[in-house]
Order: sequence, then structure tokens, then C-alpha cells
Amino acid sequence: MKLKDFRYDHVGSDVESLKLSIANKLMYSVGKDTDAATTEDWLKAAELAVRDRLVERWMKTTRAAYEQDSKRVYYLSMEFLIGRAFTNAMLAVGIYDEVRQALAALDIDINEVANHEPDAALGNGGLGRLAACFLDSMATLGIAGMGYGIRYDYGMFKQQIIDGNQVESPDYWLTGGNPWEFPRPEVQYRVRFGGHIEKDGHKVRWIDTQEVLAMAYDTIIPGYATETTNTLRLWSAKATAEINLSAFNQGNYFGAVEDKNHSENVSRVLYPDDSTLSGRELRLRQEYFFVSASLQDLVHRYLSKHSGFDKLADSVAIHLNDTHPVLAIPELLRILMDDYDLEWKKAWGLAQKIFSYTNHTLMHEALETWPIDMLGRVLPRHLQIIFVINAEFLTSVTAQFGSDVELMRRLSLIDEHGERRVRMAYLAVVASHKVNGVSKLHSELMKESIFADFAKVFPERFNNKTNGITPRRWLSQANPALSALIDEKIGPDWRSQLDHLHGLKSYADDPAFIEAIRGAKRQNKQRLAAWIKTNMDITVNPDSLFDVQVKRMHEYKRQLLNVLHVITRYNRILANPDANWVPRTVIFGGKAASAYHMAKRIIKLINDVAVKVNNDPRIGDKLKVVFIPNYSVSLAEIIMPAADLSEQISTAGTEASGTGNMKFALNGALTIGTLDGANIEILEQVGKDNIFIFGNTTPQVQDIRTHGYQPRQIYESNPELKLALDQIRDGFFSPDEHGRFQMIFDALVNFGDHYLLLADYASYVETQEAVDRAYRNQADWHYKALINIMNMGIFSSDRTIGDYAREIWHSNPVRL
Ligand SMILES: *Cc1c(COP(=O)(O)O)cnc(C)c1O
Repeated sequence: MKLKDFRYDHVGSDVESLKLSIANKLMYSVGKDTDAATTEDWLKAAELAVRDRLVERWMKTTRAAYEQDSKRVYYLSMEFLIGRAFTNAMLAVGIYDEVRQALAALDIDINEVANHEPDAALGNGGLGRLAACFLDSMATLGIAGMGYGIRYDYGMFKQQIIDGNQVESPDYWLTGGNPWEFPRPEVQYRVRFGGHIEKDGHKVRWIDTQEVLAMAYDTIIPGYATETTNTLRLWSAKATAEINLSAFNQGNYFGAVEDKNHSENVSRVLYPDDSTLSGRELRLRQEYFFVSASLQDLVHRYLSKHSGFDKLADSVAIHLNDTHPVLAIPELLRILMDDYDLEWKKAWGLAQKIFSYTNHTLMHEALETWPIDMLGRVLPRHLQIIFVINAEFLTSVTAQFGSDVELMRRLSLIDEHGERRVRMAYLAVVASHKVNGVSKLHSELMKESIFADFAKVFPERFNNKTNGITPRRWLSQANPALSALIDEKIGPDWRSQLDHLHGLKSYADDPAFIEAIRGAKRQNKQRLAAWIKTNMDITVNPDSLFDVQVKRMHEYKRQLLNVLHVITRYNRILANPDANWVPRTVIFGGKAASAYHMAKRIIKLINDVAVKVNNDPRIGDKLKVVFIPNYSVSLAEIIMPAADLSEQISTAGTEASGTGNMKFALNGALTIGTLDGANIEILEQVGKDNIFIFGNTTPQVQDIRTHGYQPRQIYESNPELKLALDQIRDGFFSPDEHGRFQMIFDALVNFGDHYLLLADYASYVETQEAVDRAYRNQADWHYKALINIMNMGIFSSDRTIGDYAREIWHSNPVRL
């Protein structure tokens, strides 16, 4: 039966209908009555009621996209850091107040309920959060976009801080069920591994493989103030046979389920590391698992509307979020050639029109390569296809540039140094019609460094798409106080037209409005202070300057430079206790990859410094240090609106873009930062008087490195820096274990200070003094904050996605 012939109850969105729905869900879906219901039960009931209001639009979008044969954009990503969905869904549909009232009528507080929702933390950090913001913007712009990824049983690990150390525990986010997903047991694909290949005339057969099933789970992605509602389809592994029956019948009960567990491991865990290649075969299997299922699925969808593949490139765009999904390239070729008998030339021509790729890092250790041996064992057919791509590519280069062995060696998809490996980023570049970086600086550096030779071969492919963030989550949802103020002045449209924030300019000279901005900030600082009190039992002063650095713990992000300033400040206060210090609360947060020892030691140092500083009666309110555990999307939503100062202090040339920097500025924090990533573009927007820039620039960094950097000289010539570093080395912060931080001292002073902290220290500390001076003038500070807020329109992920759609995907909105 066609949907349009079917009668169903349309669900109303007034308070009464919602109240009835929630009560019904509690009774019939959760199976509880109002007396027995826990907060989790109420949450589940309310979520299901809200979800119902999305489903109708969802069906409508799916049908319209099918009927109009809209060009589908498939966004392939190993990570989607979605966070919570409940409040986002209510705001998208415009029923937040109605649900709040409906719950209130049932004697339930919406905030309390909303705070019980677990984060969907299927990502590590910026890359995964970008994917989530992009889904939100694709739906909001009406693009028929679909995310494909893995439904990890365990999301990003939970971080506890015990005795100042990071302790990881599994994040089993599905314990309470996930009301936002629809299991699709009827959508399953076989994914094959191993075996070998056999020639059969012109045909290649891949045989004797092991198999695992990929089952789809669909999550609804609502667009804001539009009916367009998209899908995030995540794959979960299921063993092909439930259990090994013959083993079971022979009494080998453990062996019988072992096989099943083994093959299902492929969707078990998210790798807690987004910057170094784990090198593990399971990771390779994960990557292939999800791209194979996704490609089979999208080809199936295409063929439900078309016969033959002539229109494939008009109907389908596949975007590769970093190199993790790059196996999609040989997988598409395999499907077209082996399953549908297309010729190589035809299949390759299609692939080059369909794929596009975003590079997210220039750091050598984060560039994926796979050993030929492993790839040949796990995916023999794909390795063979990669060899063909490489041979054809190198032949075409020779035709264009003549025979140049050195150039060939540099361009080859196979790295021949030592153990032969496939360079996944190169494969992505060769097969994609567009390759983009994520900020202006990063996109330029990309062409000068890792892809220098490719930029000569394919100059038209390389482009920039500066990252963005969704204003729905990062202002409307996270910061109701500021949102209300903005609404009062310019109305609510900024949520989907973020450049409307420019309209606030008319109020920049109104002292009452500046005072209101200050009041909203103060309210958000109190909210965070209350969170810190409740969860950490630390009292912080909301009138102090909140100086915040929250992001993954990594040496290039230089949390340690921040610590050096904190220690210097502590020493200065002790040396001059009666000076009129601007009180500061320095807040850190972020997870370290579990095998990243240096990053974990830095966490310990921050916490040891915190113990020393926070318990020194001579310091009092003048300085406090807080490390907030378990940084996540939902914590970011509380932390960012409360920040006065945003720390974006990576070594110039290392942070591809950053998106944390954008969230802070949108919430009225001033940035202290280097000329790195998107900081440069934030500076362009707000002007140099409204941001604190310090440190060496990218060319200066390159210069220092080529001329032989001498950190020890800096250490010996700057007494304050020397004192701080000696205190770290000598156990001043670790009296229970004097050598605890020797490795940190050594990395900076003796082993080359790879990220140039010492080279930027003096400039950083001096700029922090400028921050203090600026903060003393509160009216002027909050004026600067307003200038920041007002000029963040360009950093909406709607702008980013609009650019991708126009310049890369060539996809137009679905008409509803
Ligand atoms: C935005 C965000 C990030 C990225 O932060 P950067 O400062 O750009 O590295 C990481 N984690 C979470 C939870 C975020 O919300």
C-alpha cells in the first residue's frame, strides 16, 4: 500500500496533545505508570512523543527525494559526535515550550529530564563533531544528505580523574536503549573479508571469504524550521550464523558463541584516538565494514530508480570525511566491475565524478597508510584494484610530465620505503574530483606540503571549505540567555541565517545592551560554577575571568603552554600579593588517547598544579585551576557560553581549522590565539582590537625549525620561564614523587620542544597581561564580545554546507 493512501493519526503539537502523547508513551511504550516512573522513564516517554512529531516529515522527505530523484549526498565518516538529541529535536520542530508545559502539567521538570539523556559520543573530537554539525546543516538547507557510519556499541570512553590521573572506562551508551534510532533488520548486507581472487576469463572472482552481516540502524536528523528530515544510517555487525551449531551440539558452548562474538567485534568500539594510526587490523576491518555496507546500500537505492549506471554520477555524490572511508573507492569499482560487469574505464570515469575528499590534518603521524601485506590478506580484491589505479595514474603522469623516476616515487599510491604501504590520502586525491582543506591557511599548506606534487598534476581539484558550526546547538540550545537577548533585538531568524547577527551592530553603542550581554555571560558563568560545585565540589568565583581551554589533549594544541602561564601567574602573585590582580579561573577539559602517555602526564600536571594553587591561602580567589572531567558535547554546551577567554594556542601551522574557536566566539568569548587554522579568519571577521593574537606565525615557525631551534637557550635566558620549568622538574607540584614530570621538562628543554612552546612563551605571557588590562574595563570587554558575536555569521555550518553543495556536490534542495 502506498503511504499516501494510508490513513494514520496526525499527531498534534499543542500542549494538550503532547501531554496525552507523553502519558500514553509512558504507559504503552515504556510500560510504567506515573507512580513508578523514574526520570529515565519520563525522558524516554517524552523522547518518543517528540520523535513521533518527526516521523511524518521524515517519510515525506524520503518520498520526495525519491520522486524528484534528488541528487543524494552521502557523507561517509568513521565518527559522528552527535551529543544529545532531545532538546535539539524540540527546537528544530519548534515545540520546546509546548513540551516543557506538557511535562510541567505532569509535574516533571524538562531540564531535569533532558539532563538524563546520554550523549551519543560516536566520535573523538573535532572531526566527528563537524560531521554532526554538517548533518544538521544539510537537513536545514533541504539537501538530500545521508550520513553513513558505524553504530559502535561503546562510544568514546568515559574519562574520570582519579588522584589527578585520567582513568578510562567504557561508555556503554546503549544501556538504556536509544529512542532516536530505528533498527532496520530488513536492511542487511554481507561484508566479506579475506579469501583470495581467481581469474575467470575477463572476470575476477573473490572467493573463499569470511562474512559478517551489516545491519542498518537509522537515526532521524531533523532540519531546523523546515520539514526536511534526513537520515544517519549506522551499521552494526551481526554474525552470519547466530552461533556455530555444530560446535554447540558437540558441547563446545563457549566455542559456539566465540565465532559470533569475534565477527561482531567489528562494530564494538570506537578507536579512542583520532590522531595516530592504530595500525591494527581491526581498524582496517572497521573501515571496510562500514564503507562496503554503505556502498552496497546506495547502489541498491540508485537501482531502485534507474536501470544501468549512466546516471550514477548525476544521482550520487559520495564525500569522504578524511581518509578513514577511502576504501569506498575500490569498493565502488569492485561492485561496478565484479557485480555489474562494467568495464574498468567506465567504472573509473564514474568514480572520479562521484567522490570528493576532505583532508583534516597535515601531521605526518596522522596520515593513514596500510601495509600491503595486511591489505592483501584482508582485502585481496581491493588491493588489486588499488594497484590498477596506481598503474593507470602513473602512466598518465608519464604522458603529461615525461618519465621522472623521482616524481613517480613521490606520487605513487604505494610507499616503497621499507615495508610497502598504501597511502590512503593519495588514493583519495587521485580518485576525487575535489579535495578540500578546512581553513584558508590549512588549504594553502596542504598544497605546499603533503600534496605539493598532486597540486601540480591536478591544480583544479584543490579548494578550501572553512569549517563551521551549527548555530542551533551552539547558540540557540547552549545559550538560552544570550539567544533571548538577540531575539529581542533582531528576531529569531539568525538561527538559520546566522549573518543576520550583523544586525546587532545598531545596538553596539547602547550601554544598556552591552550591560545585558554582560548579564547573560554572568548568568552562564553562574550556571557553570554551580555545575562545578555540584560535580567537583570546587567553589569558583563567577566574577573572576573564566579562561577556558577545552579540546582533545594533544601536544600540538599546547595545553602545556597554558600551564606555563598559570605557573608564572602563581609565582607572580606570590611575589606581589598586594597588587590589584584580575582574578582568574583557568578551566581545562579534554580527553587524552589512552596510549598517549605524554598527554596523560600533562593532565596529571594540570591537576597537580590545581591542587597547589587552589589550596594556597595566599592565593585565594586570585587564581583557581579546574580540570573538568569527561569533556563531551553536552559539557561543551555548558562550558562555552560561560567562557570569557577562549584559548586557541596551537603551534602555527598545526591546527587544521578548529571549531571550538568558533563556538566560543559565537558565545561572546574573546580569543587568545596564534595565527593558526580558522583563528586567522576569526581575526579577519572581528578585527585586531577584538582578539588577542600572539606568537610565531607559520613562516616564522618554519624558519625557526630550519635554522636550528635552541629551546635550552630560551630556558636559560628567561628567569620566569626557567623558574616554572624547574618547579615542574624538581617536584614542586609533585612532592610525593619528585621525578614525575621530568619527562615534560626534558621534552621542552632537552629534546627539541617540537611544538615550540618556549619560543612562544614570552609573547603568550605578555598577551595574557593585555587580556587582564582589557578585562578591567568591563563595558569595553563586553563591547568586544558583542563584536565577536555579531561577526560569526560566516562560521555557520550552513555557509560551509552551502559552499560544499554548490561547488563540490552540485546538489539542489529537495522540494517539499
Ligand atoms: C567542538 C568540539 C571539539 C573540537 O574542538 P577544537 O577546539 O576545535 O579542537 C572537540 N570535542 C567536542 C566535544 C566539541 O564539541
